[in-house]
Amino acid sequence: MSEKKLKFNSKAIHGGQEPDKAYGAVMPPIYQTSTYAQSTPGGHQGYEYSRSANPTRTALEKSLASIENGNYGLAFASGLAAIDAVIKLLNPGDEVVSTNDLYGGSYRLFKQVFEKFGIRFHFIGMQNVHTIEEYINGNTKLIWTETPTNPMMNVIDIRAISKLAKKYRLLLAVDNTFATPYLQTPLDLGADIVMHSATKYLGGHSDVVVGALVVRDKDLADKLYFLQNASGAVCGPMDSFLVLRGIKTLHVRMQRHCENGKAVAEYLAGNPKIEKVYWPGFENHPNHDIAKSQMSDFGGMISFVPKGSNYDEAIKIVEKLKLFTLAESLGGVESLAGHPASMTHASIPKEEREKSGVVDSLIRLSVGIEDIRDLIADLEQAIG
Ligand SMILES: *Cc1c(COP(=O)(O)O)cnc(C)c1O
Repeated sequence: MSEKKLKFNSKAIHGGQEPDKAYGAVMPPIYQTSTYAQSTPGGHQGYEYSRSANPTRTALEKSLASIENGNYGLAFASGLAAIDAVIKLLNPGDEVVSTNDLYGGSYRLFKQVFEKFGIRFHFIGMQNVHTIEEYINGNTKLIWTETPTNPMMNVIDIRAISKLAKKYRLLLAVDNTFATPYLQTPLDLGADIVMHSATKYLGGHSDVVVGALVVRDKDLADKLYFLQNASGAVCGPMDSFLVLRGIKTLHVRMQRHCENGKAVAEYLAGNPKIEKVYWPGFENHPNHDIAKSQMSDFGGMISFVPKGSNYDEAIKIVEKLKLFTLAESLGGVESLAGHPASMTHASIPKEEREKSGVVDSLIRLSVGIEDIRDLIADLEQAIG
């Protein structure tokens, strides 16, 4: 059976994987080596130096390509290293149209690192495709988007934006960290580049920091591979192994994340002490129809605002939570709670932050795969 025809749950386990050639090991060995013996100069077995390529990383890169329905995967030392490679495709004077509701670290990389090198970024709301068009000019080269967005859970119409990107011959990159390919495959919706912080759901066990890119086009893959090797922020063999192991259970974990996420979202929405709940699965979520058309379910990421609360009261709630650990990050088997204004989004100026809805009292949950009764009881005692 051709591997491309496999269903997602099978690809997560088998995609791009073959038993190891040396001894038939079912899991790819951790090739903890920097270099490879050559019989004569250039006489090697496909690997020369581990920045350029390493067999464990290759196994992960093939798995990534398979689950995202792409042709080429690239694994980096972190999600930000992966984004860094994408922006390095550009030249001084080029412009990027980016969503304004994005991961704080991406914003920091764009604003504080790449603007210095003469690349210009426009951070805008992407709910309306016509707004994006207003920011496109002769220098625009890339549209950067993230959906569902972090932490406001807005859903951006990837198909509509990809039409625009094609019309103006721009690259479209989608940060698919929140959705994962279990819920949404941006390349199928017209994106050119899919990016992941594999630190989150793909790794899934909060034990590694890794980034990924997946593309279809050979030329684009070659350019990105050049940058991966030239800049050198590669994913190490041990970390490649850990993410590969994570991906093998991605589908079963995601199924439970979605179930628990729904139950928590409904509990919060029914709690009179809560003012607002942001979760794309609600029918009254402003982008629910788009979510339904491009995602197969709604995920386990939820943000909420307690009624009449401020910065300090929101912090009190996250401190009271016991089963939800107060921590940065998301997507692991364990439930986490975060306070974006002081944590993940602290690097975005307050006025910028509040424009996109990240108010001081917003709390973000990454709903894990524990027993849902325990999770609800924990929220109940913390919210009071
Ligand atoms: C965490 C995260 C990143 C950055 O990834 P790292 O692995 O931490 O470098 C980028 N985008 C999103 C949506 C994230 O959640």
